[in-house]
Amino acid sequence: MAQKTFTNALTIDFEDWYQGLEIPYQDWDGFEDRIDFVGDKLLRILGETDTKATFFMLGYIAEKHPEIVKKIEAEGHEIATHGFSHTLIYNQTPEVYREEMKRAIGFLEGLTGQKVVGHRAPFFSITKDSLWALDILGELGIRYDSSIFPVLNYRYGIAGAPRFPYEIERGEYKFTEFPVSTLKIGKVTLPIAGGAYFRIYPYALSKQFLKAVNRAGQPFTFYLHPWELDPEHPRIDLPRRISATHYFNLGATERRFKKLLRDFQFAPMREVLNIN
Ligand SMILES: [Zn+2]
Repeated sequence: MAQKTFTNALTIDFEDWYQGLEIPYQDWDGFEDRIDFVGDKLLRILGETDTKATFFMLGYIAEKHPEIVKKIEAEGHEIATHGFSHTLIYNQTPEVYREEMKRAIGFLEGLTGQKVVGHRAPFFSITKDSLWALDILGELGIRYDSSIFPVLNYRYGIAGAPRFPYEIERGEYKFTEFPVSTLKIGKVTLPIAGGAYFRIYPYALSKQFLKAVNRAGQPFTFYLHPWELDPEHPRIDLPRRISATHYFNLGATERRFKKLLRDFQFAPMREVLNIN
């Protein structure tokens, strides 16, 4: 029997290397910007296999580098939002979060003339303490979200949350939640689909894990940060729990990512979910 091929969602959390390290954005001045270089590198790799992805753009970097947003859009990728300042949502007030989201979405829409329909929270930080953020997303016209991680760790996740796309209803708003992929082995739910996890497991294992999601009849979601393709980015002193994963095995990403693009079929999240 011929194996069914699934179209999976490829997603990029588009931020510079120093923006996902729990450093407040007011202190970001002075770090070396490498997003132009690494953004071009990423676009080149995607272009080689003619793969289109969803780019969850951080508002701060989009405002600083509007030309790269335009380039990404011109190459046929989906422009979605990753908020403005990469602050953990559960440490923000709803008022501040709403203002930041309005600014981030408004900027992208003004630049591309396209409606932003997708959102991923910084650090997947929609947790039981910040479910109110979903109401604000509905209010701002978001049609799908990819922020609720179904495994709990020290920074994010809701244990036992659904692992595959599902509908969320908040008052008058309805949208789809498309969580980043995990694998259930017995009672354990394992994160498998990107970021540091992709650098920790050998590629052959990642491939088996991802295939298992497709075998279960579901598309998977994979995520990557541009700086993971840039092993030469500056080393700074960080708390151990952060540096242990941030710098781990960066040299392996490019080779593995290219294999992944050859081994699986991908499309932007909006297309996988059939949102017009
Ligand atoms: Zn991020």
